[in-house]
This record gives sequence, structure tokens and C-alpha cells, in this order.
Amino acid sequence: MPDAITRPTPPATAAAWSRRDTHPVNIGGIWVGGGKPVVVQSMTNTDTADVASSVRQVADLWRAGSELVRLTVNNPESAAAIPRIREKLDMMGVPVPLIGDFHYNGHQLLAAEPACAQALSKYRINPGNVGFGRKKDLQFGQLIEFAIRYDKPVRIGANWGSLDQSLAAQLMDENSQRADPWDAGRVLREALIRSALDSAEKAVEIGLPRDRIVLSAKVSGVQELIAVYRDLAQRSQFALHLGLTEAGIGSKGIVASSAALAVLMQEGIGDTIRISLTPEPGQPRTQEVIVAQELLQTTGQRAFTPMVTACPGCGRTTSEFFQELAKVVQNHVRGKMPEWKISHPGAENMTLAVMGCVVNGPGESRHANIGISLPGTGEAPAAPVFVDGEKKLTLRGDNIAQEFVALIDEYVEANYSRVAS
Ligand code: SF4
Repeated sequence: MPDAITRPTPPATAAAWSRRDTHPVNIGGIWVGGGKPVVVQSMTNTDTADVASSVRQVADLWRAGSELVRLTVNNPESAAAIPRIREKLDMMGVPVPLIGDFHYNGHQLLAAEPACAQALSKYRINPGNVGFGRKKDLQFGQLIEFAIRYDKPVRIGANWGSLDQSLAAQLMDENSQRADPWDAGRVLREALIRSALDSAEKAVEIGLPRDRIVLSAKVSGVQELIAVYRDLAQRSQFALHLGLTEAGIGSKGIVASSAALAVLMQEGIGDTIRISLTPEPGQPRTQEVIVAQELLQTTGQRAFTPMVTACPGCGRTTSEFFQELAKVVQNHVRGKMPEWKISHPGAENMTLAVMGCVVNGPGESRHANIGISLPGTGEAPAAPVFVDGEKKLTLRGDNIAQEFVALIDEYVEANYSRVAS
């Protein structure tokens, strides 16, 4: 008999979730670090200079639950678009803070477009792409000066794909002098970590407070990412942005990101996350937000929307009805959550179960706030419904889906209404 998909479960020990102590960073009103709940962020893939498309996608990402949204700012047109994007979002009632992603020419763009510098809530700086040779330190310093002048935090985001080559070469040379040299992978990991940490210390020396700095050091391999962040977390108290860079497409990207981030978060490492999924053709950009939320919710870190436990199905049920019902229920609660968030706070903690037959159905349904056990092959055509562990009624006939959804709404009204509470 296949296992049922498990619901979010409490931690084995409270210590399992204790968060690493980091400097709290205020990003346009959203707190990252300092023990605050792990923040979900995302990034657009529109041409930032296309204001209408960018506004639409930022709003979609925010409605899906992204608490911060990053846009690339790579040329004068995109820098000029940022204040217009901000203005339109404000007019639409979309307050999500915007983060500007700068590479190579950020110092020039921020100098040329003060309104962009002001409209952004954080600047992302990649220390491997700030500039080359003697210009590197100068241009990095200019970026930090802009952050100080406009009172903005920065993310110093090192990346495996754009590692500071001069630092990597220096560490390789130093390594060759060691009596017991490290392997090349360890030296490159150290270069990535040093790139982030040394740049952060430089920013502090220039005058940026520690509570305006978030660090990241992204790689594309799961084990490397875990090793890099464990090290980074031990060596500083800066707030950390977690993400597996270039995670990939479809299930591979989801599994790889979840495998790496879940391990780190279980150790209390990570203050904000992004799932860098490559969208499948036709798939909405918002999927990366849903995956991030589900990762946080299934690991018990935060609740965003009622979770639906559904069995995988097997030869005991040839009907696809329970699969369809699970989807209807999941879509219903996800669609209602923006409204419930305001009118029925706490509804996101509700648990639901949709099960395919009598074997695990009643048991699993009793564990949920509301669960339904559908009839498997050869069973009587009746679907008992359990509410808070007690069998409440039995549904029959052609309207089971509508009636079950109505019961969910009734439960929310009775248990989470602001008036009732
Ligand atoms: S149909 Fe029944 S036996 Fe099969 S997976 Fe679902 S609950 Fe388990």
C-alpha cells in the first residue's frame, strides 16, 4: 500500500527550528533576519524597460505571495523604468519592495538615475561583476556610497558562475604553498565565501551599517551549497539569502532547491529564500513563489495556505475523482486565501485531507481539520467527512465536490472569522 503524502508536522524538537542570530535588515518595510520569519522572494524575467509587462509580472508575483521582487537593472532604459514601475504598482495598491539587480554598470546607472536609486528598496551587488582590475574596488565603493546616500540596504551576492577570478587565483596560489593543499573544489568554495565576506567588511568600512547588509553565495550543486552556507553562517552574523542558483527546470529544479534549502533551514540557516526555477514553456513565473511557500510550509517554518493531504492513489481506487477533488480543494483554498488572510486570519493553518479509500482514508481524515474518505473500488458509494477528528456526515451523489468545498468555507467561517474570534 503506497504511503499517503504527509502533512506538515511539528519539529522533533524545538531546537530543530531555532534560527541563527543575524542582523535584522529592513527592506522597504519587510524584515529579513534577526529571527523574523523566513521571507519569500522572486525575480522577474520581463525586460525591465517594458514597464507594462514588468508591472504586470511584479503584481502577479506579489499576489502569489512574493514579499520582495527583484528586477534586473542592466541599462539606462531599465534604470529609467524603475521609478515608473514603482509608481504604477503604488497606484494599483501593490506595495511590494523592489530590488535592483546590478552588474558591471550599477555605479553609472545609479548616478544617472537618482529616481531609480530612490525607488528601489535594496541594491543587489555581485562582487564578481562589479568591475575589473583597479576599477573593481572603486566601483564597489561607489555602489556602497549610493546605498548610504539613499539609505538602502544591499545584498552582496557572490555567485559560482561569476566568481571573482583575481581572488580565486590568489587563493589557488596560497593553497599551493600549503603543506597539505586543499582540493580545488574547497579552494573555490573558500573564494566564493571570501568574496562575499570580504566585500561585506569593505562595505562596513565605507560606512554601511551591518544591519543593512544581506549576504548570499550561490552555487548550483546541492552539497556545495550546503557546505558553503554552513561555513558562511559560522563566519558572520549577516542575514543570509538562500538559493540554489540555476536550479533547473521542472521537478529537477524543485527537488534540488528543496533538498538544499530544507537542510540549511533545518539548521536555522537562511533568512530569505528564492527558488530559481527555469519556467517550463507556458508555465507562469509565479510557480517559483508557490514552491518557496510550500517548502517553508511543509518544513513547518511558516503557514501560507491550508495544506491538502492527498493519498497518491493505487489499485484500490480506479477512480480519478479523488485526484480531481484534491485539485479542486487545493485551488479553492489557494484562491480564497488572499481574502481569508484579511477576513479570517489563521485559516492558513487549517489542514485538509482528500483520501482515495477506506484503508488510510478515515485515519488520515481524522488527523486533518476537515477530511473526506472517498469510496475505493468495490466500496459502498459513500464518502464520510471528518471534522476535527469526528465523523460529521456522509456525502453521496454527484455534488460531493461542491458540498465538500462548502463545508470548508463553513469551517473557516466558524473557526477563523474575525467576528467569531
Ligand atoms: S487509495 Fe486507499 S490504499 Fe490506495 S493510496 Fe489511497 S488511501 Fe492508500
